[in-house]
Amino acid sequence: MTRDLLGRHRQVLPDWLALYYDEPIEITHGEGRYVWDAEGRKYLDFFGGILTTMTAHALPEVTKAVSDQAGRILHSSTLYLNRPMVDLAERIAQLSGIPDARVFFTTSGTEANDTALLLATTYRRSNTVLAMRNSYHGRSFSTVGITGNRGWSPTSLSPLQTLYVHGGVRGRGPFAGLGDEEFIAACVEDLRDLLGHTRPPAALIAEPVQGVGGFTAPPDGLYAAFREVLHERGILWIADEVQTGWGRTGEHFWGWQAHGRNGPPDIVTFAKGIGNGMSVGGVIARAEIMNCLDANSISTFGGTQITMAAGLANLTYLLEHDLQGNARRVGGLLIERLRAVGAQVPAVREVRGRGLMIGVELARPGTDEADPEAAAAVLEAARAGGLLIGKGGGHSTSALRIAPPMSLTVAEAEEGAAILEDALRSIQ
Ligand code: PMP
Repeated sequence: MTRDLLGRHRQVLPDWLALYYDEPIEITHGEGRYVWDAEGRKYLDFFGGILTTMTAHALPEVTKAVSDQAGRILHSSTLYLNRPMVDLAERIAQLSGIPDARVFFTTSGTEANDTALLLATTYRRSNTVLAMRNSYHGRSFSTVGITGNRGWSPTSLSPLQTLYVHGGVRGRGPFAGLGDEEFIAACVEDLRDLLGHTRPPAALIAEPVQGVGGFTAPPDGLYAAFREVLHERGILWIADEVQTGWGRTGEHFWGWQAHGRNGPPDIVTFAKGIGNGMSVGGVIARAEIMNCLDANSISTFGGTQITMAAGLANLTYLLEHDLQGNARRVGGLLIERLRAVGAQVPAVREVRGRGLMIGVELARPGTDEADPEAAAAVLEAARAGGLLIGKGGGHSTSALRIAPPMSLTVAEAEEGAAILEDALRSIQ
Protein backbone atom coordinates (compact mmCIF):
# COMPACT_ATOMS: atom_id res chain seq x y z
CA MET A 1 0.00 0.00 0.00
CA THR A 2 1.23 3.46 -0.88
CA ARG A 3 -0.55 5.25 1.97
CA ASP A 4 2.37 5.15 4.43
CA LEU A 5 4.75 6.43 1.72
CA LEU A 6 2.55 9.47 1.17
CA GLY A 7 3.06 10.43 4.79
CA ARG A 8 6.81 9.90 4.69
CA HIS A 9 8.04 11.20 1.36
CA ARG A 10 7.70 14.91 2.19
CA GLN A 11 9.90 14.42 5.28
CA VAL A 12 12.88 13.23 3.27
CA LEU A 13 12.49 14.34 -0.36
CA PRO A 14 12.89 17.93 -1.61
CA ASP A 15 9.79 20.09 -1.97
CA TRP A 16 10.75 20.94 -5.55
CA LEU A 17 10.24 17.42 -6.87
CA ALA A 18 7.41 17.83 -9.36
CA LEU A 19 5.28 14.81 -8.45
CA TYR A 20 2.25 14.14 -10.62
CA TYR A 21 -1.23 13.68 -9.09
CA ASP A 22 -2.88 14.79 -5.84
CA GLU A 23 -1.94 11.38 -4.50
CA PRO A 24 1.30 10.35 -6.24
CA ILE A 25 1.38 6.85 -7.72
CA GLU A 26 3.75 4.10 -6.63
CA ILE A 27 4.34 1.90 -9.66
CA THR A 28 5.35 -1.60 -8.69
CA HIS A 29 5.48 -3.58 -11.93
CA GLY A 30 4.73 -3.52 -15.62
CA GLU A 31 4.26 -5.64 -18.72
CA GLY A 32 4.06 -4.52 -22.32
CA ARG A 33 2.25 -1.19 -22.35
CA TYR A 34 0.67 -1.64 -18.90
CA VAL A 35 1.82 -0.87 -15.37
CA TRP A 36 0.35 -1.69 -11.95
CA ASP A 37 0.43 0.38 -8.76
CA ALA A 38 0.90 -0.76 -5.18
CA GLU A 39 -2.88 -1.06 -4.75
CA GLY A 40 -3.00 -3.49 -7.65
CA ARG A 41 -4.67 -1.02 -10.05
CA LYS A 42 -3.77 -1.50 -13.70
CA TYR A 43 -3.01 1.41 -16.02
CA LEU A 44 -2.39 1.70 -19.73
CA ASP A 45 0.89 3.61 -19.86
CA PHE A 46 0.87 6.50 -22.36
CA PHE A 47 3.93 8.21 -20.86
CA GLY A 48 6.47 5.47 -20.08
CA GLY A 49 7.85 7.27 -17.01
CA ILE A 50 8.76 10.16 -19.23
CA LEU A 51 9.59 8.48 -22.53
CA THR A 52 11.97 6.16 -20.69
CA THR A 53 10.17 2.93 -21.53
CA MET A 54 11.00 2.96 -25.22
CA THR A 55 10.00 -0.52 -26.37
CA ALA A 56 7.86 -2.21 -23.67
CA HIS A 57 7.72 -2.81 -19.94
CA ALA A 58 9.51 -5.95 -18.73
CA LEU A 59 10.67 -6.74 -22.25
CA PRO A 60 12.04 -10.31 -21.90
CA GLU A 61 15.07 -9.57 -24.13
CA VAL A 62 16.15 -6.64 -21.93
CA THR A 63 15.39 -8.48 -18.68
CA LYS A 64 17.54 -11.40 -19.81
CA ALA A 65 20.44 -9.19 -20.91
CA VAL A 66 20.38 -7.36 -17.57
CA SER A 67 20.13 -10.46 -15.41
CA ASP A 68 22.80 -12.33 -17.41
CA GLN A 69 25.16 -9.38 -16.96
CA ALA A 70 24.30 -9.04 -13.25
CA GLY A 71 25.10 -12.73 -12.82
CA ARG A 72 28.53 -12.31 -14.45
CA ILE A 73 29.88 -9.07 -13.03
CA LEU A 74 28.82 -5.59 -12.00
CA HIS A 75 31.96 -3.68 -12.72
CA SER A 76 32.29 -0.10 -13.62
CA SER A 77 34.46 2.73 -14.88
CA THR A 78 35.90 3.69 -18.22
CA LEU A 79 39.39 2.80 -16.97
CA TYR A 80 38.73 -0.63 -18.49
CA LEU A 81 37.22 -1.69 -21.77
CA ASN A 82 34.00 -3.60 -21.82
CA ARG A 83 32.43 -5.33 -24.80
CA PRO A 84 28.83 -4.11 -24.54
CA MET A 85 30.03 -0.49 -24.42
CA VAL A 86 32.06 -0.81 -27.61
CA ASP A 87 29.28 -2.81 -29.31
CA LEU A 88 26.65 -0.21 -28.44
CA ALA A 89 28.94 2.69 -29.41
CA GLU A 90 29.44 1.06 -32.83
CA ARG A 91 25.71 0.61 -33.40
CA ILE A 92 24.94 4.19 -32.36
CA ALA A 93 27.79 5.67 -34.41
CA GLN A 94 26.48 3.84 -37.50
CA LEU A 95 22.93 5.00 -36.88
CA SER A 96 23.91 8.60 -36.12
CA GLY A 97 24.45 9.86 -39.67
CA ILE A 98 27.48 11.78 -38.34
CA PRO A 99 30.67 11.08 -40.28
CA ASP A 100 33.58 9.69 -38.25
CA ALA A 101 31.34 9.64 -35.17
CA ARG A 102 32.58 9.01 -31.64
CA VAL A 103 30.25 8.13 -28.77
CA PHE A 104 30.67 8.88 -25.08
CA PHE A 105 28.21 7.39 -22.59
CA THR A 106 26.74 9.16 -19.58
CA THR A 107 24.14 8.23 -17.02
CA SER A 108 21.54 10.90 -17.85
CA GLY A 109 20.38 13.45 -20.39
CA THR A 110 21.57 16.23 -18.12
CA GLU A 111 25.09 14.84 -18.07
CA ALA A 112 24.98 14.27 -21.84
CA ASN A 113 24.10 17.91 -22.46
CA ASP A 114 26.66 19.05 -19.91
CA THR A 115 29.29 17.08 -21.84
CA ALA A 116 28.10 18.56 -25.14
CA LEU A 117 28.53 22.03 -23.64
CA LEU A 118 32.02 21.14 -22.42
CA LEU A 119 32.96 19.96 -25.91
CA ALA A 120 31.41 22.87 -27.82
CA THR A 121 32.73 25.63 -25.56
CA THR A 122 36.21 24.07 -25.53
CA TYR A 123 36.23 23.49 -29.28
CA ARG A 124 35.09 27.03 -30.06
CA ARG A 125 36.76 28.76 -27.08
CA SER A 126 33.60 30.64 -26.23
CA ASN A 127 31.24 30.33 -23.28
CA THR A 128 28.37 31.99 -25.08
CA VAL A 129 25.64 29.55 -26.10
CA LEU A 130 22.43 29.92 -28.11
CA ALA A 131 19.42 28.04 -26.79
CA MET A 132 15.74 28.05 -27.70
CA ARG A 133 13.07 29.80 -25.70
CA ASN A 134 10.84 27.31 -23.88
CA SER A 135 13.54 24.59 -24.06
CA TYR A 136 14.47 22.01 -21.41
CA HIS A 137 17.96 20.50 -21.28
CA GLY A 138 18.46 19.19 -17.75
CA ARG A 139 18.73 19.95 -14.07
CA SER A 140 22.45 20.61 -13.43
CA PHE A 141 24.02 24.04 -12.94
CA SER A 142 25.13 24.31 -16.57
CA THR A 143 21.99 22.83 -18.15
CA VAL A 144 19.48 24.95 -16.21
CA GLY A 145 21.50 27.84 -17.64
CA ILE A 146 20.45 26.84 -21.17
CA THR A 147 16.90 25.89 -20.25
CA GLY A 148 14.58 28.52 -21.70
CA ASN A 149 11.49 27.13 -19.94
CA ARG A 150 11.57 29.34 -16.86
CA GLY A 151 9.41 26.96 -14.84
CA TRP A 152 12.33 24.51 -14.93
CA SER A 153 15.27 26.88 -14.58
CA PRO A 154 15.63 27.61 -10.86
CA THR A 155 18.67 29.89 -11.03
CA SER A 156 19.78 32.68 -13.32
CA LEU A 157 23.40 32.34 -12.11
CA SER A 158 24.86 30.42 -15.02
CA PRO A 159 28.47 29.66 -15.91
CA LEU A 160 27.45 30.34 -19.53
CA GLN A 161 26.24 33.41 -21.29
CA THR A 162 23.04 32.22 -22.91
CA LEU A 163 21.09 33.94 -25.65
CA TYR A 164 17.59 32.68 -26.30
CA VAL A 165 16.35 32.23 -29.85
CA HIS A 166 12.75 32.29 -31.13
CA GLY A 167 11.38 29.44 -33.20
CA GLY A 168 11.10 26.28 -31.06
CA VAL A 169 7.40 26.91 -30.45
CA ARG A 170 5.10 27.46 -33.37
CA GLY A 171 1.88 28.57 -31.73
CA ARG A 172 3.11 31.23 -29.31
CA GLY A 173 5.50 34.17 -29.40
CA PRO A 174 5.95 37.07 -31.78
CA PHE A 175 5.81 35.00 -34.96
CA ALA A 176 2.74 32.90 -34.15
CA GLY A 177 0.19 32.89 -36.94
CA LEU A 178 2.70 33.16 -39.80
CA GLY A 179 2.82 30.54 -42.56
CA ASP A 180 5.73 28.05 -42.59
CA GLU A 181 8.02 29.99 -44.94
CA GLU A 182 7.32 33.34 -43.28
CA PHE A 183 7.80 31.84 -39.82
CA ILE A 184 11.20 30.41 -40.78
CA ALA A 185 12.27 33.65 -42.47
CA ALA A 186 11.25 35.71 -39.42
CA CYS A 187 13.14 33.40 -37.03
CA VAL A 188 16.25 33.46 -39.21
CA GLU A 189 16.18 37.25 -39.36
CA ASP A 190 15.75 37.37 -35.59
CA LEU A 191 18.75 35.04 -35.16
CA ARG A 192 20.89 37.21 -37.44
CA ASP A 193 19.86 40.24 -35.46
CA LEU A 194 20.81 38.54 -32.18
CA LEU A 195 24.20 37.47 -33.53
CA GLY A 196 24.96 40.95 -34.81
CA HIS A 197 25.51 42.16 -31.29
CA THR A 198 27.48 39.38 -29.60
CA ARG A 199 30.79 37.57 -29.54
CA PRO A 200 30.49 34.40 -31.64
CA PRO A 201 28.68 31.77 -29.57
CA ALA A 202 30.08 28.24 -29.37
CA ALA A 203 26.86 26.45 -30.31
CA LEU A 204 23.13 26.43 -30.74
CA ILE A 205 21.46 23.70 -28.70
CA ALA A 206 17.91 22.71 -29.60
CA GLU A 207 15.36 19.92 -29.14
CA PRO A 208 13.91 19.11 -32.59
CA VAL A 209 10.53 18.73 -30.85
CA GLN A 210 10.39 20.44 -27.46
CA GLY A 211 9.57 17.77 -24.88
CA VAL A 212 8.95 19.34 -21.48
CA GLY A 213 7.74 22.38 -23.44
CA GLY A 214 4.65 20.43 -24.48
CA PHE A 215 5.63 18.48 -27.63
CA THR A 216 5.78 21.57 -29.79
CA ALA A 217 7.76 21.68 -33.02
CA PRO A 218 8.73 24.37 -35.51
CA PRO A 219 7.99 23.84 -39.21
CA ASP A 220 10.30 21.29 -40.85
CA GLY A 221 13.42 22.98 -42.12
CA LEU A 222 13.78 25.68 -39.46
CA TYR A 223 17.04 24.27 -38.12
CA ALA A 224 18.33 23.70 -41.64
CA ALA A 225 17.78 27.40 -42.28
CA PHE A 226 19.45 28.27 -38.96
CA ARG A 227 22.31 26.02 -39.97
CA GLU A 228 23.27 28.28 -42.86
CA VAL A 229 23.62 31.20 -40.46
CA LEU A 230 25.56 29.08 -37.95
CA HIS A 231 27.90 27.80 -40.68
CA GLU A 232 28.77 31.32 -41.75
CA ARG A 233 29.98 32.06 -38.23
CA GLY A 234 31.47 28.72 -37.24
CA ILE A 235 28.81 28.04 -34.62
CA LEU A 236 28.13 24.37 -33.82
CA TRP A 237 24.65 22.80 -33.85
CA ILE A 238 23.81 20.50 -30.94
CA ALA A 239 20.62 18.45 -31.33
CA ASP A 240 19.18 17.32 -27.99
CA GLU A 241 17.54 14.03 -28.99
CA VAL A 242 16.81 12.93 -25.43
CA GLN A 243 13.08 12.68 -26.21
CA THR A 244 13.01 12.63 -30.02
CA GLY A 245 15.58 9.96 -30.86
CA TRP A 246 15.25 6.29 -31.90
CA GLY A 247 12.32 6.72 -34.29
CA ARG A 248 9.76 7.99 -31.79
CA THR A 249 8.64 10.73 -34.19
CA GLY A 250 7.77 8.07 -36.78
CA GLU A 251 8.93 9.73 -39.98
CA HIS A 252 12.55 9.93 -38.86
CA PHE A 253 14.97 7.98 -36.72
CA TRP A 254 16.34 11.25 -35.30
CA GLY A 255 14.26 14.36 -34.80
CA TRP A 256 16.93 16.48 -36.50
CA GLN A 257 16.29 14.67 -39.79
CA ALA A 258 13.22 16.87 -40.30
CA HIS A 259 15.83 19.64 -40.58
CA GLY A 260 18.64 17.73 -42.23
CA ARG A 261 18.88 19.55 -45.56
CA ASN A 262 22.23 21.03 -44.60
CA GLY A 263 23.71 17.90 -43.07
CA PRO A 264 23.66 16.30 -39.62
CA PRO A 265 24.26 18.22 -36.38
CA ASP A 266 27.81 18.58 -35.09
CA ILE A 267 26.80 17.02 -31.78
CA VAL A 268 23.82 14.85 -30.81
CA THR A 269 22.84 14.03 -27.22
CA PHE A 270 20.59 11.14 -26.18
CA ALA A 271 19.24 9.45 -23.02
CA LYS A 272 15.87 8.24 -21.68
CA GLY A 273 14.45 5.52 -23.96
CA ILE A 274 17.61 3.82 -25.15
CA GLY A 275 18.08 2.09 -21.76
CA ASN A 276 14.35 1.23 -21.44
CA GLY A 277 14.52 2.45 -17.84
CA MET A 278 18.21 1.77 -17.20
CA SER A 279 20.34 4.91 -16.96
CA VAL A 280 21.94 5.28 -20.38
CA GLY A 281 22.73 8.67 -21.90
CA GLY A 282 25.42 9.88 -24.22
CA VAL A 283 26.96 12.25 -26.69
CA ILE A 284 27.77 11.65 -30.35
CA ALA A 285 30.17 13.97 -32.15
CA ARG A 286 32.57 13.75 -35.04
CA ALA A 287 36.07 12.82 -33.91
CA GLU A 288 37.56 16.27 -34.33
CA ILE A 289 35.07 17.71 -31.82
CA MET A 290 34.94 14.75 -29.42
CA ASN A 291 38.73 14.69 -29.21
CA CYS A 292 39.21 18.41 -28.54
CA LEU A 293 39.69 17.95 -24.78
CA ASP A 294 43.35 18.17 -23.72
CA ALA A 295 43.01 16.78 -20.21
CA ASN A 296 41.98 13.28 -19.15
CA SER A 297 38.39 12.41 -18.47
CA ILE A 298 36.70 9.40 -16.93
CA SER A 299 33.22 8.23 -16.11
CA THR A 300 32.65 5.76 -13.31
CA PHE A 301 29.11 4.80 -14.26
CA GLY A 302 28.76 6.03 -17.86
CA GLY A 303 29.06 3.01 -20.15
CA THR A 304 28.83 0.51 -17.33
CA GLN A 305 28.25 -3.06 -18.50
CA ILE A 306 24.76 -3.65 -17.16
CA THR A 307 23.29 -0.49 -18.68
CA MET A 308 25.09 -1.08 -21.99
CA ALA A 309 23.76 -4.65 -22.10
CA ALA A 310 20.25 -3.26 -21.59
CA GLY A 311 20.78 -0.61 -24.28
CA LEU A 312 22.05 -3.14 -26.81
CA ALA A 313 19.17 -5.57 -26.24
CA ASN A 314 16.64 -2.74 -26.35
CA LEU A 315 18.04 -1.16 -29.52
CA THR A 316 18.24 -4.55 -31.24
CA TYR A 317 14.57 -5.20 -30.42
CA LEU A 318 13.55 -1.74 -31.64
CA LEU A 319 15.31 -2.21 -34.99
CA GLU A 320 14.30 -5.83 -35.54
CA HIS A 321 10.62 -5.08 -34.87
CA ASP A 322 10.60 -1.81 -36.81
CA LEU A 323 9.16 0.14 -33.91
CA GLN A 324 9.82 3.36 -35.80
CA GLY A 325 7.37 2.14 -38.46
CA ASN A 326 4.96 1.15 -35.68
CA ALA A 327 5.26 4.62 -34.13
CA ARG A 328 4.45 6.14 -37.51
CA ARG A 329 1.45 3.90 -38.19
CA VAL A 330 -0.12 3.60 -34.73
CA GLY A 331 0.88 7.17 -33.82
CA GLY A 332 -0.76 8.43 -37.02
CA LEU A 333 -4.02 6.63 -36.14
CA LEU A 334 -3.91 7.93 -32.58
CA ILE A 335 -3.37 11.52 -33.71
CA GLU A 336 -6.32 11.23 -36.11
CA ARG A 337 -8.52 9.74 -33.40
CA LEU A 338 -7.55 12.46 -30.90
CA ARG A 339 -8.16 15.18 -33.48
CA ALA A 340 -11.67 13.83 -33.93
CA VAL A 341 -12.16 13.95 -30.14
CA GLY A 342 -10.65 17.44 -30.02
CA ALA A 343 -13.16 18.69 -32.58
CA GLN A 344 -15.96 17.74 -30.13
CA VAL A 345 -14.43 19.04 -26.90
CA PRO A 346 -14.19 22.85 -26.58
CA ALA A 347 -11.28 22.71 -24.10
CA VAL A 348 -8.99 21.20 -26.79
CA ARG A 349 -7.22 23.93 -28.73
CA GLU A 350 -4.83 21.80 -30.73
CA VAL A 351 -3.76 18.19 -31.23
CA ARG A 352 -0.26 18.08 -32.64
CA GLY A 353 2.54 15.62 -32.95
CA ARG A 354 4.55 13.16 -34.91
CA GLY A 355 4.59 9.41 -34.44
CA LEU A 356 4.17 8.51 -30.79
CA MET A 357 4.95 12.00 -29.48
CA ILE A 358 1.57 13.70 -29.31
CA GLY A 359 0.60 16.94 -27.57
CA VAL A 360 -2.96 18.03 -26.76
CA GLU A 361 -3.08 21.74 -25.98
CA LEU A 362 -5.89 22.85 -23.69
CA ALA A 363 -7.32 26.36 -23.51
CA ARG A 364 -10.23 28.04 -21.79
CA PRO A 365 -13.09 27.36 -24.20
CA GLY A 366 -13.48 29.98 -26.89
CA THR A 367 -10.14 31.65 -26.04
CA ASP A 368 -6.41 31.13 -26.60
CA GLU A 369 -5.80 31.34 -22.87
CA ALA A 370 -3.74 28.43 -21.50
CA ASP A 371 -5.61 26.27 -19.01
CA PRO A 372 -3.24 24.49 -16.61
CA GLU A 373 -6.09 23.61 -14.22
CA ALA A 374 -7.83 21.75 -17.02
CA ALA A 375 -4.63 19.85 -17.84
CA ALA A 376 -4.22 18.82 -14.19
CA ALA A 377 -7.88 17.78 -14.02
CA VAL A 378 -7.62 15.66 -17.19
CA LEU A 379 -4.51 13.95 -15.81
CA GLU A 380 -6.45 13.00 -12.65
CA ALA A 381 -9.51 11.89 -14.59
CA ALA A 382 -7.41 9.78 -16.98
CA ARG A 383 -5.72 8.13 -14.02
CA ALA A 384 -9.08 7.32 -12.48
CA GLY A 385 -10.04 5.76 -15.82
CA GLY A 386 -6.85 3.66 -15.92
CA LEU A 387 -4.58 5.72 -18.20
CA LEU A 388 -1.29 7.46 -17.41
CA ILE A 389 -0.34 10.50 -19.50
CA GLY A 390 2.04 13.41 -19.00
CA LYS A 391 1.72 17.16 -19.13
CA GLY A 392 3.98 20.01 -20.15
CA GLY A 393 4.08 23.43 -21.69
CA GLY A 394 5.65 26.83 -21.49
CA HIS A 395 4.99 29.36 -18.77
CA SER A 396 1.86 27.41 -17.92
CA THR A 397 1.49 23.67 -18.08
CA SER A 398 -1.51 23.38 -20.34
CA ALA A 399 -0.56 20.59 -22.76
CA LEU A 400 -1.17 16.88 -22.29
CA ARG A 401 1.77 14.76 -23.39
CA ILE A 402 1.28 11.32 -24.89
CA ALA A 403 4.32 9.13 -25.54
CA PRO A 404 3.55 5.42 -25.03
CA PRO A 405 6.09 2.63 -25.39
CA MET A 406 6.76 2.34 -29.14
CA SER A 407 5.33 -1.19 -29.38
CA LEU A 408 1.80 0.20 -28.77
CA THR A 409 -0.87 -1.78 -30.61
CA VAL A 410 -3.84 -0.35 -32.50
CA ALA A 411 -6.23 -1.86 -29.91
CA GLU A 412 -4.28 -0.19 -27.07
CA ALA A 413 -4.26 3.12 -28.93
CA GLU A 414 -8.06 2.85 -29.22
CA GLU A 415 -8.40 1.93 -25.56
CA GLY A 416 -6.29 4.91 -24.44
CA ALA A 417 -8.05 7.33 -26.77
CA ALA A 418 -11.44 6.27 -25.36
CA ILE A 419 -10.29 6.81 -21.75
CA LEU A 420 -8.80 10.19 -22.69
CA GLU A 421 -12.00 11.18 -24.47
CA ASP A 422 -14.01 10.45 -21.30
CA ALA A 423 -11.47 12.36 -19.20
CA LEU A 424 -11.66 15.39 -21.51
CA ARG A 425 -15.45 15.32 -21.52
CA SER A 426 -15.57 15.01 -17.74
CA ILE A 427 -13.94 18.42 -17.21
CA GLN A 428 -16.36 20.36 -19.42
N1 PMP B 1 16.97 16.99 -22.52
C1 PMP B 1 15.66 16.80 -22.74
C2 PMP B 1 15.09 17.19 -24.07
C3 PMP B 1 14.84 16.24 -21.75
O1 PMP B 1 13.54 16.07 -21.98
C4 PMP B 1 15.42 15.85 -20.52
C5 PMP B 1 14.60 15.21 -19.42
N2 PMP B 1 13.28 15.56 -19.34
C6 PMP B 1 16.79 16.07 -20.34
C7 PMP B 1 17.53 16.63 -21.36
C8 PMP B 1 17.45 15.68 -19.06
O2 PMP B 1 17.53 14.31 -18.94
P1 PMP B 1 17.73 13.61 -17.52
O3 PMP B 1 16.47 13.81 -16.74
O4 PMP B 1 18.03 12.19 -17.87
O5 PMP B 1 18.89 14.27 -16.88
